[in-house]
Amino acid sequence: MKRIIGDVYNVKPYSLGHLDCSVYLIDTKTNDGLILIDPGLYIEPIINIKEYGYNPKNIRHCLITHGHLDHFGVCHELKKINNNISYYIHELDAEKVEQTSYDSYIENYYKGFEYRPIKITIKIQKDGENLRLGDYEIKCISIPGHTLGSIAYYLETENQKIIFGGDICGSALKLSGGNLVNYIKSMEKILEFDIDILCEGHLNVIKPAEKVMEFIQACMMMNEYVHIVLEEDPHNIEVLYNLTLLEYELGLYDNALDFCNYLIEINPDNLKAKELLKKIKRHNPPKFEFVKSYIEKFFSNQIYSK
Ligand SMILES: [Zn+2]
Repeated sequence: MKRIIGDVYNVKPYSLGHLDCSVYLIDTKTNDGLILIDPGLYIEPIINIKEYGYNPKNIRHCLITHGHLDHFGVCHELKKINNNISYYIHELDAEKVEQTSYDSYIENYYKGFEYRPIKITIKIQKDGENLRLGDYEIKCISIPGHTLGSIAYYLETENQKIIFGGDICGSALKLSGGNLVNYIKSMEKILEFDIDILCEGHLNVIKPAEKVMEFIQACMMMNEYVHIVLEEDPHNIEVLYNLTLLEYELGLYDNALDFCNYLIEINPDNLKAKELLKKIKRHNPPKFEFVKSYIEKFFSNQIYSK
């Protein structure tokens, strides 16, 4: 656990090869106790807050940014620690948390993970809705794109504007409930807030304001490339290479590995790609082999739907 600013902490930093998300905590120092933002997949990092003088039983609120399992899979275990935690998510993503089964995309991605649903306490409906928790006012900004019900939680503390954005660096792919046009609009909306600190869903904390802006712009560009390669023109070598390079620069080494391998599969003589692959491999990313299977699935589905 690491303090970000004031009462705001990063409970579990991002680590390469782990599928769960970055977990954040706010200590309200009032009867509202501790707030978790995106509790993730595993209970251990949450139990470990004890080592920093916090009691997990004091967690009273759990804000979920969107309905992807890696952001809320641990909720049923949290209930065992304290049965009175209030769970928040946008109403359009609530079903994902409350349902007993998953679609094949999620099941493939999190093979072997046993999910048990929980009941959402508060389903956010309105863009800009304010949650008053302790002395904090947390604004729920609707940012559809990664999923239909994605939310960024916004607060101001110590003269800094902070956003818990969920998967800003995530994809806007149709297969996982995304939409590129919505995603771009949502990112432009976040940029208008002039955020000082971005608590990202997988890549931890990005600051100051200038870096946040650069990061969000890079994520927008990445998603435009991803859309071209995975949903329009999978053999576009130039876009594929630029995308791989951008993912490498953003530190998304597992995705970069996937795209680079695919690039070399299309053209085994691509020297630039081979050089880049060497650099990516230095970071020892795990192999997901998602790109090829997605392309095959997407294009065979398109043929069926014609
Ligand atoms: Zn996600």
